Parts: sequence; structure tokens; C-alpha cells
Amino acid sequence: MKPVIALVGRPNVGKSTLFNRLTRSRDALVADLPGLTRDRHYGEGRVGERPFLVIDTGGFEPVAKEGILHQMAKQTKQAVAEADVVVFLVDGRQGLTPHDKTITDFLRKSGRPVLLVVNKSEGMRYTSVVADFYELGMGEPAVISSAHGDGVHDLVELALDTA
Ligand code: GDP
Ligand code: MG
Repeated sequence: MKPVIALVGRPNVGKSTLFNRLTRSRDALVADLPGLTRDRHYGEGRVGERPFLVIDTGGFEPVAKEGILHQMAKQTKQAVAEADVVVFLVDGRQGLTPHDKTITDFLRKSGRPVLLVVNKSEGMRYTSVVADFYELGMGEPAVISSAHGDGVHDLVELALDTA
């Protein structure tokens, strides 16, 4: 069985960009429109000799009771249930949002191993990128740039070691 990595985070943090980099495919739709990828989406990746599966998710909106946002939340929950490890992406440029805290609470309850990962960190100093996110209580964040690739290889190895 290949380990399963689920990419979770609020819309527009860069999940699909990371998914595409991990799978080297264009399967996940990346767009400047937040939240365009509305389905769970599976892909296969490999680092060295280690294959893995990765699930892109279409955002997370636990307060919605119906409609597309509710559907997205359900799919994200399903993806987390299937995951051996969750990569929880946040946006280092935007900083911490209330939405990130809601997702943190949900992930904690899920009991899955979670790696907190700050994306969009290119050109930024580590200390200033991560400062906001310690208060989530998820430990030392990893720092990546999905768009440029910085830190992505190390993140995958860490995720596979955690899975
Ligand atoms: P998703 O909604 O979480 O799937 O986010 P997307 O992958 O669709 O990305 C949302 C926006 O963030 C797009 O405009 C991406 O080009 C941009 N983005 C993604 N990763 C990075 C990154 O590492 N650095 C910067 N500066 N922008 C990024
Ligand atoms: Mg997306």
C-alpha cells in the first residue's frame, strides 16, 4: 500500500499548485480564482524510490450546512479519513486567519498525523514567515514554496517518514 498524503487548507493557499508539483501533472486545476478545485483529486508521486498517493482537496468550510461549500467540507473530511498523513497548508503571505484555526480544530479531532506547512515563503525570512503560526499549537512549521519548489522535497520525505 502506498502512503496517502492529503493536502488540506483553506482556498487559495496553494494546494493545487503543490499537488501539480508532486504529481508533475496538470490534472488539478490551478487558478487565480480561489477554490476552483472543488473535488477531491488523486494523484501519484514519487520521491527517490518511494511512491505515494496525494489527494488535493477543494478547500474547507465547516460552517456551511448545504450547497457546494458543504459538499467541499464533506469531501475534505473523507480525504482526511483516508490519509496516512495530512499536509495542512497555510499562506505565509496572508498570515494566520480564523479559517486556519477552524481547520486546526477539525484536524486535531481527526486524530491523523498533521504537518503544518507554510506556503508562499519564497523570498521571505523563516522567522517572519512562521511567527504567526505557532499559536495554532501544531509545532514547528515546515516552510515551502509550491510555486518555486523550495522545501518541497524535504517536506515529502518528512511526510512519508510521518505516515
Ligand atoms: P488552492 O485553492 O489551495 O488549490 O490554491 P492554488 O494552488 O489554486 O493557488 C492559489 C494561488 O496562489 C495561485 O495564484 C497560485 O499561483 C498562488 N501560489 C501557489 N503557491 C504559491 C507559492 O509558493 N508562492 C506564491 N507567491 N504564490 C503561490
Ligand atoms: Mg485548488
